[in-house]
Amino acid sequence: MEWGCLGALTQRSLAQGFDAFHELILIDEVCRCGSGGVVWGLVEGLQIGLPPVLHFGSAALKARVAPECLRGRKVICLCISEPYAGSDVAALRTTAVWDASGQHFVVNGEKKWITNGMFADYFTVAVRTGGEGNKGLSFLLLEKSMPGISCKQMDCSGVWASGTAFITFDNVRVPMENLIGTENEGFRYVMYNFNHEVRDVFARCWATVLTSACPLSAGALSCRRTASAACALRTPSATRRSAKPSARRCWSTP
Ligand SMILES: Cc1cc2nc3c(=O)[nH]c(=O)nc-3n(C[C@H](O)[C@H](O)[C@H](O)COP(=O)(O)OP(=O)(O)OC[C@H]3O[C@@H](n4cnc5c(N)ncnc54)[C@H](O)[C@@H]3O)c2cc1C
Repeated sequence: MEWGCLGALTQRSLAQGFDAFHELILIDEVCRCGSGGVVWGLVEGLQIGLPPVLHFGSAALKARVAPECLRGRKVICLCISEPYAGSDVAALRTTAVWDASGQHFVVNGEKKWITNGMFADYFTVAVRTGGEGNKGLSFLLLEKSMPGISCKQMDCSGVWASGTAFITFDNVRVPMENLIGTENEGFRYVMYNFNHEVRDVFARCWATVLTSACPLSAGALSCRRTASAACALRTPSATRRSAKPSARRCWSTP
């Protein structure tokens, strides 16, 4: 399978020799747009939602889902957080129970703060399939085409381009083939996935801050410096070459 450069964001070992350093380079380049919302809109769901499928999903699930996501034709997101459980993943309440046929799960619950949820085709969802605590969780892949999924745009104070959603699952029937890995092993998968996510969120924040903060600092410095008794920023060359593009870029950064 051709993974393309987006493969570096998700499955380093399989992605044609990409490793974590290539992933860092890719993040750094994407973050040069200077907008956290745009970066999250472009790569966040893919970067955190697809790895569970790649690492723990069946060969059939991988073959069906991964190529379309990596080619940018389909969007995937990760659904862990709930109105009642954020950091405390072991307490999440969204349930998935087997139906009478034993061929489908029926999913009910709510997920909150889901990046890319508004335009996602696939939802990698942590659900409770067993008893209380961390031994009763599983990962299921839900699909937009399944009846009972509704997504509402959240009124966030930033990252508007990332499509942050409040998602409700109302009796969503999910075929057993969409179980990712082994039933009730989900907590381990979530924690494995978090290791990658934490590092990449840090890298994105770092790179975005640098690329948006640097033009601001350059602009402030230009205002303070003088050249031939005039503010450097007001000289024609400075205005033409740096000040206007810098200012435009800074003001357009949410
Ligand atoms: C813009 C944005 C995008 C997001 N995207 C996603 C996404 O795509 N998918 C997804 O699943 N989630 C997403 N989230 C949710 C995010 O992962 C949660 O906000 C995070 O897990 C924290 O959960 P919480 O907000 O419920 O806070 P809480 O869990 O209530 O934590 C609040 C505070 O209490 C502290 N705390 C909690 N428990 C303990 C404890 N036992 N001991 C000591 N301190 C504790 C925490 O450190 C924190 O400071 C997103 C959030 C935001 C803001």
